[in-house]
Amino acid sequence: MRSYHVRTLGCQMNVHDSERMAGLLQSNGYVPVIDVPEHAQRATSAGDEGADVVVINTCSVRENAATRLFGNLGQLASVKRERPGMQIAVGGCLAQQMRQGIIDKAPWVDVVFGTHNLDVLPVLLERSRHNADAQVEIEESLKVFPSTLPTRRDSHWAAWVSISVGCNNTCTFCIVPQLRGKERDRRPGDVLAEVGAVVSEGALEVTLLGQNVNSYGVSFGDRGAFAKLLRACGEIDGLERVRFTSPHPAAFTDDVIDAMAETHNVMPSLHMPLQSGSDAVLRAMRRSYRSAKFLGILERVRDRMPEAAITTDIIVGFPGETDQDFEDTLRVVEESRFSSAFTFQYSPRPNTPAADREDQIPADVVAERYARLIELQERIGTAENEACEGREVEVVVSEGLGRKDGATARISGRARDNRLVHVAVPAGAKEPRPGDVVISVITHGAPHHLVADSAQYSLRRTRAGDIWEAAKAAPPAGVSLGMPSIRVGA
Ligand code: SF4
Repeated sequence: MRSYHVRTLGCQMNVHDSERMAGLLQSNGYVPVIDVPEHAQRATSAGDEGADVVVINTCSVRENAATRLFGNLGQLASVKRERPGMQIAVGGCLAQQMRQGIIDKAPWVDVVFGTHNLDVLPVLLERSRHNADAQVEIEESLKVFPSTLPTRRDSHWAAWVSISVGCNNTCTFCIVPQLRGKERDRRPGDVLAEVGAVVSEGALEVTLLGQNVNSYGVSFGDRGAFAKLLRACGEIDGLERVRFTSPHPAAFTDDVIDAMAETHNVMPSLHMPLQSGSDAVLRAMRRSYRSAKFLGILERVRDRMPEAAITTDIIVGFPGETDQDFEDTLRVVEESRFSSAFTFQYSPRPNTPAADREDQIPADVVAERYARLIELQERIGTAENEACEGREVEVVVSEGLGRKDGATARISGRARDNRLVHVAVPAGAKEPRPGDVVISVITHGAPHHLVADSAQYSLRRTRAGDIWEAAKAAPPAGVSLGMPSIRVGA
C-alpha cells in the first residue's frame, strides 16, 4: 500500500484538479497521508516527506511560480536521497509549459504530466517505477474533462464544481489560455448532477468554477446558460449556499444579476476582477470593458443586492502604466468600495505579449504605487467592515473552537457574503463543528475580518457537521503522517 500527498501551489482551478489527482490515486489503491506522527512533524513543516508519492500541482499565473516549484523540488531531493523508493510527480500549468525542462533541471523528478491529462498520473507513476526512468506526458488538448474523474474532496461541507475549463480571452498578461486551452463547457445536466451528488454527500455550499463563468454556454449556443444554471441551483434541496468564480466584467450581463438577486441560495458576494481603472491600460491588457462599464455593473449589483460584498483583483505597474493611469485606478477603487482586493505587482510571465513590451515600469515605481493602493484599500476595507457592526451574521463554521483569548473561545467561518468572521461561543454552549451554522451579531469590523462577540448567539447543527463528527470518530484508513492530503499554497 503506497501513500500519497498533493501539494497545491496555485489557484482554485488547481485545488479542483488536486482533488481529482487525489481521487485518482485513491481509486488506484494509494492511501492519503493523514495523521502526523512525531518523526514527520520534526522532519519538516510541510510534513509530507513520509509519503511514497508527492505530487506537486503547479501554477504559472502566480508570481515566482518556477522559483516556488524548484524550491519545493530542492527540499524533496534530500528526502528522496534518504528514501529512494519515493516518487515525485509534477503536474499543472507549469508542467504543461516546461515539460521535459522540469526533468532537465530536477532529474530526481519521476513524472511530469500536464493540465489536459490528469487521468494518466497513476499509469505514469507505475511506468516510471517499472522502467526506473522519468516519464513525461503532455497532451495539447483536453481528452477527459477533469470533473469526470474520481475525486477526494478536502472539505465535507463545501465543494468546487467545475462548469468549464480553458478561456477564449487573450489578456496580454495571462498565460492561462496557452496552458488550459480554449474554453470547454460542461453540459448543464452534468453540472447539476454533480451539484446534486455533492449535496447528497453532505455539502451545503458549492462554488461553480470556470476561468470565465459568464461565457458559459456560448459553446452550446445558449448565452443565458449561466443565469439559468444559478436559478437551477436554487431548486436543489439541501444546497444552502451557491458561489461562483471567476466572472469577467466584459461578459457580465443583467440576467446574471437578476438570477443572483432572485435565487435564495446564491450568496450576495461577487469577485469581479478590475485589473486596472485606466481605460488605456485595460485596452493594452486586451480587457474589453472600460472603467465606466465596470462601475455600472457594481452599481446594478448593489441596487439589487445592497448587502453584497464585492472583491477584486488589481495589477499595479502594467507596462506603460503612467502616473495618470494609476490615479485612475485609485479613483475606481475609491468608487468601487471593495470589501477586499487581491493586489499584484505586475511581473512579466514568459510567453505572454506583455512580457515583451519595452516600457516595463521600474520596480521602485511599481512598489511605491502598490503601497499607495494597499493603503487606500485597507482604509476602504476597514470602513466597509466597520459598517457591518450591529448586523446579524450567519456563519458556516470552517474551524472549530481554536483560539482561546482569555474567557473567549471563538470559531471561524464565512458569512453569506463570504467575509471571514470569528464568532465567540458562549461558555457552556454546545461546541459547533466544521460545517455547522452559527448565527450571531457583528461587534467589530477589522481590516480583513469581522468579530462577532455578541450574547445573541445560536447554533444550527447540520448534516455536514454530523459527517465531520463521524469521520473524526472513525478516521478513514490511511498512512498516519499528516495533514490534509491536499495542501494549498506551499
Ligand atoms: S479572462 Fe484573461 S486573465 Fe482570465 S483566464 Fe482568461 S485570459 Fe487569463
